[in-house]
Amino acid sequence: MTPDVREADVAVIGAGQAGLSAAYHLWRRGFRSPGSSDQHATGRTVILLDAEEGPGGAWRHRWDSLTMATVNGIRELPGMPTVDTDPAERSNQAVPAYFAHFEARYQVPIERPVRVLRVENDPAGAPGSAGTDGGTGSAHLLIHSVGPDDTPRAPIRTRAILNATGTWTRPFVPTYPGAAEFRGAQLHTADYTRAEDFAGQRVAVIGGGISALGHLLELADAGAATHWYTRREPEFSDEPFTQERGSRAVAGVAERVAAGLPVGSVVSATGLFWTPALREAERRGILKRRPVFTRITPHGAIEADGATTELDVLLWATGFRHELTHLRPLRLHNRHGGITMDGTAVAADQRIHLLGYGPSASTIGANRAGRAAVAELVRFLDAGDDAHD
Ligand code: FAD
Repeated sequence: MTPDVREADVAVIGAGQAGLSAAYHLWRRGFRSPGSSDQHATGRTVILLDAEEGPGGAWRHRWDSLTMATVNGIRELPGMPTVDTDPAERSNQAVPAYFAHFEARYQVPIERPVRVLRVENDPAGAPGSAGTDGGTGSAHLLIHSVGPDDTPRAPIRTRAILNATGTWTRPFVPTYPGAAEFRGAQLHTADYTRAEDFAGQRVAVIGGGISALGHLLELADAGAATHWYTRREPEFSDEPFTQERGSRAVAGVAERVAAGLPVGSVVSATGLFWTPALREAERRGILKRRPVFTRITPHGAIEADGATTELDVLLWATGFRHELTHLRPLRLHNRHGGITMDGTAVAADQRIHLLGYGPSASTIGANRAGRAAVAELVRFLDAGDDAHD
């Protein structure tokens, strides 16, 4: 072992809602930073890493017009009272400020900005163990990361990881013929900042989810000429969004991850439902949907019916994938392209929990996943300790 390797029982990667929920439950169970003299420490240690410059996770990057009134609803963090915010406040300010309160209250020692590049099985194995069997708790993981200016940091050797790296850093744009030749601007929801920038322009919004609808409404109000393209005919529900409907959507996604299938977002599984703003948009003709074009040209698109439409901007509201690139060396994906899960743990490797993944990719799901993963992790570490006694 090289002398500068740091050691911890567990590492949490990512400090959005899911990572902070895990941090809270670890803290309650007496996990502390290596070297902590806290009297409540149990001797078990945790290191928390986050790529951001400050608190807030992906909320730091949401567009300015996404206010606390227009978000879907953000669940408070565990152990933290709801902070009264003005509904008009930008979510990219209100949520980071709330997370900062949480981190200060529980003195969560997050190391940032730290980007994890790679997690691999420690080639040295654990003392006294030869293999890397994820089921026994005997083998360790090695985390490689960089700090500010991509400066390499000492590797971290750990018995388990709680991975909570979200989706924001992996925007998904589908491939369409001709896209590379388009002469106008192309951007993804993750790059969108202000509707006013598109005033007077012909904008194609591609995607059938809540983000696409939000963009359409704002762009039309800002004076852009919008065209809405979706693969399937969108279905709007007249029923209000209920807890039961949310639970049904989450259960559907949970079934997929247990079967090892690739997953989309929970938000996309909950579907679309009418709001007064959408009714008004429909009345104004903003929600006239077209089937996705067959080809992109330098100045527009060839529609499904063969007509040509001139466009200045393609705005891809086509979702995100889970950010798991740093876990590739662990070969967690199966032949279906998904990861088979057992609760929050990877079924084939109980050292690794994925929080904010699949059914827990919402603020409420992230809270629950943090609690469940920590309970499971403690059982796993106890079993490993017993095996070595
Ligand atoms: P994030 O908040 O994305 O946090 C992940 C953290 O991991 C980030 O800090 C990131 O920097 C860090 N990270 C990533 N990669 C690395 C790495 N390699 N090394 C170190 N750190 C890394 N859900 C709701 O419940 N209500 C809503 O209103 C809502 N609105 C949404 C609006 C939009 C536009 C989108 C895209 C999603 C929305 N969601 C909403 C879903 C939302 O993403 C989740 O609810 C939740 O905020 C995600 O929390 P998280 O902790 O999983 O991820």
